[in-house]
Order: sequence, then structure tokens, then C-alpha cells
Amino acid sequence: MFLKKIAKFKGSLVFRLTVLYAVAFTVLAALGFAVIYHRLHSEAIERMDRELLAEVSDYAELVADEGFQGARKKLLEEDASEDPEEEFYRLLNARGEILVSTDMSTWGDAARRQVLEGAKNNPSGRFLKTVHMSDGDSRARTVTAAIGPSLFIQIGETLEETDEYLEIFRTLLILLIIALILLSMAIGWALAKRALADMEAISKTAEEITSGAYERRVPIDGSLSETRRLAVTINVMLDRIQNLLHTMQQINDNIAHDLRSPLARIRGIAEMNLVQEKPIDDYRDMAVSTIEECDALIEMINTMLDITEIEAGVKTAHIEEFDLSLLVAGACELFDPIADEKKIILESQLPERLLFHGDQKRMQRIITNLIENAIKYTPVYGTVTVSAKNDNGTITIAVEDNGAGISDADLPYIFQRFYRCDHSRSQGGVGLGLSLVKAYAESMQGTVGVKSQPSRGSVFSLCFNA
Ligand code: ADP
Repeated sequence: MFLKKIAKFKGSLVFRLTVLYAVAFTVLAALGFAVIYHRLHSEAIERMDRELLAEVSDYAELVADEGFQGARKKLLEEDASEDPEEEFYRLLNARGEILVSTDMSTWGDAARRQVLEGAKNNPSGRFLKTVHMSDGDSRARTVTAAIGPSLFIQIGETLEETDEYLEIFRTLLILLIIALILLSMAIGWALAKRALADMEAISKTAEEITSGAYERRVPIDGSLSETRRLAVTINVMLDRIQNLLHTMQQINDNIAHDLRSPLARIRGIAEMNLVQEKPIDDYRDMAVSTIEECDALIEMINTMLDITEIEAGVKTAHIEEFDLSLLVAGACELFDPIADEKKIILESQLPERLLFHGDQKRMQRIITNLIENAIKYTPVYGTVTVSAKNDNGTITIAVEDNGAGISDADLPYIFQRFYRCDHSRSQGGVGLGLSLVKAYAESMQGTVGVKSQPSRGSVFSLCFNA
């Protein structure tokens, strides 16, 4: 269990980001410290070299002024005054034989021949070298230089103090690097955790939604700006999906309801046929009723399929030029008898000719659906007016009535499939007419809108580019 947890943590993004951050931080810090260390070391050596070379120059001047004896005298004075463990001086001939030297007991040979060869081969006659002492631990900086004919001086100075300082500095740096590794891991972990907290919230929400809590949303407060955008987008998407699910559920309920009633009626008719003997004319009537119910069902299913296909773009509009005034006038004529029956005045306000580019059959269906609704939802002695005009290239068609009107609560939903306002339950219809109007209008790049007041009437208007 514990091993599993470790394996899971090792595979996590937080772990990887932490390690990456720590490695990058440590490598950079180590590089920085290496540069500083190198600089300090070179500076200590350079300072020592300057001192050694200054002493060489002093000896060279002395030899030039007073000869070998002058240098010898100075060297013996150094022997008396300097700590023999810190510095050594010796004068050599060209063969490397020691002519005179300070106390060399702690220095041993101090690479005498090697550094002498270095000085001989060096064009400046001076050769600086760091040598390791016979004890193996300590180092010394040496200079070997020609200070007269066949006369060389070797001066060595211990690097013990410098090495001690550098050793302390090195230890400090290592401790600092360890502290930095720990600190960078902590910072890296905290940063990675912060950055991924939002991701975790998103996946937690997704898990909750998967297990059925559809109303859950990704928390937005305190998110980083990048993830806030993602969270907002996901929430909007979830809202849409939920709405869609809700609408689909409603549509399913409506379909079930609208299928059940006619099917129940058909079943009732069939049952009556079985139960009672009837005259032949009654059977004929029953058959007619059954056919009517079936036709209504087929009509509903066809309309549903039509809407779906138009919305999916499967059925494209058949665009042609026609006279819209003629088409609207024809539709009004068709509804005249129905309007007359209800004592409704059906009037039209149309220009003599109104050319339109679009699908004639779809436009006919749109107009008849709107006129049919207007007559259906307007009480007797009401008025329905159909008008069409071209306003600077925008063709507007309006179907106005002074009938039942639609409440503000219903208005946003009337174009949804199967939506029916309460006041229309007593009327025939299944709630697909306006959905079809909208789908057809949009398939011709048009829009459909409605203004309505309960008990005052409604205006449905369509807008198209001429
Ligand atoms: P329906 O088959 O019920 O007429 P529609 O999709 O054509 O379906 O209309 C949806 C609902 O909008 C109707 O049930 C009705 O409540 C309302 N409606 C449509 N047109 C009008 C109108 N002119 N006046 C009042 N209500 C209307």
C-alpha cells in the first residue's frame, strides 16, 4: 500500500515538477558557486604571485648592485626573521645545486629541479608554480627566477592559510548547496502544488460529475488566471450540457406524451371493434379515425425529422427567386375560410411585388404555420394582419394578432421543440410549429423574433437579407 503510494507520487506531475525545479535550481547555484570559488582561488594565487615577483625583483636589484654576496646576506637575514614553515628562499646555480638556503626542514626538496627547468625554459626567466609538499596535503606557491649570470633564486610560500580559507569556503558552499537543494525542493513542491491545485479541483469536479453529481461546477475563486479561464470555459460547457440534457429529457417526455395519447386512442378504437358488434358504417368511421390519428402521428414524426435534418444541415435550402407578395397573398387566401368560420378578420398589407431569394416551399410553410397559430390563438372577432416589406435591403415579414398573447415566462421557450404554453393545451397541436419556423428561417440565413403581451396579442416577425 505504502509502496503503491510512493510509486503513484513518483509518477505524479507535482513530483516531476519539484525534481525538475530542484535540479535546475541546484545546477545553476552550483555553477554560480563554482565560478565564485574559482575566482577567489585565482585571486589568492595572483596576489601571492605579485608578492613573490616583487621579492624576486628586490633580489635581482641586489645582485646587480652588490653581487652574489648581497643576495646571500639578505637571504640569511630572511632566515633569521621569517618563520621557516611559512616561506623558504634559496639561491641555486645553473645546475640546480643549492648555494645557500633558509631552513628547508619542513620543505624537503620542493621540486627543486623541476621548477628550475621551468625557469630556464621560460623566456622571461621567471617560472611560477604551485607544488605539493612531500606530506601530500599542503601546497606551496613557488617562483624560480634568474637573478644573475648562472644564479637563480627560488622563493616558496606556503598556501596552507589560503587552502584553509578555501576549505572553509568550500564546506560552507556545500552546506549552502544542500540547504538550497532542500529549499528549492520545498519551493518547487509548493509552486507545483499551487499550479496543479486548480487542475486537481477540475479533475475532482469531473469525477463527481461522472458519479452523478451533475450540478457540481469547478470552483473559480482563487484560481490562477490561466486555469480560471479553463474553469470558466468548463463550467459554461457543463451548463450547456446540462441544459441540453434537460431539454432532451423534456423532449423525450413530450414525445412520449404526444405518442401515448393518439396510440391510446387508436387502441381504444380497436378494442371497441373487438368488444361490440356494430353496423358497417361505424366500422368505417372507426377506420377513418384510426387513419386520421395515424396521419397526425406520421406528420409529427416527419416534422421532427425535418427539423433535425435542417438543423444538422443535411437538407439544404433550394434557393430561387420568387414573388413573396404573391406567396403571402396565396397563404392568406388559403386561410380565409378558417378565419371566416371564427369571425376573424384576416388582412394583408403587401407591396405589389416583392422579390425574394430563398426556398419557396420552406417560406410557404413558415407563413402558413404563423398564420395558422395566429388564427388558432385569437378568439372570435379578432384580427390577424400579415405584412411584408423591403426596408433598404432587409425583407421583413410580420404576422400580428390581437389574440391570447404569450406570458413573459413562456416567451423564451416557445421556439423549443414540443413546448406549448398552458393556455394552448385545449387547442390542437404538438408544439413543433414554431421550431420548424425557426429552423426553416435560419436555413435561409433569416431570423425570427416575437413580441407579445398576454390578452393583447402577438407579433411574429421574420427578417431576411433581400
Ligand atoms: P403548437 O402546435 O402548440 O401551436 P407551436 O410551436 O406552433 O406549437 O407554438 C408553440 C406555443 O406557442 C403554442 O403552444 C402557443 O402556446 C404559443 N403560440 C404560438 N403562436 C401563438 C400566438 N400567435 N398567440 C399566442 N400563443 C402562441
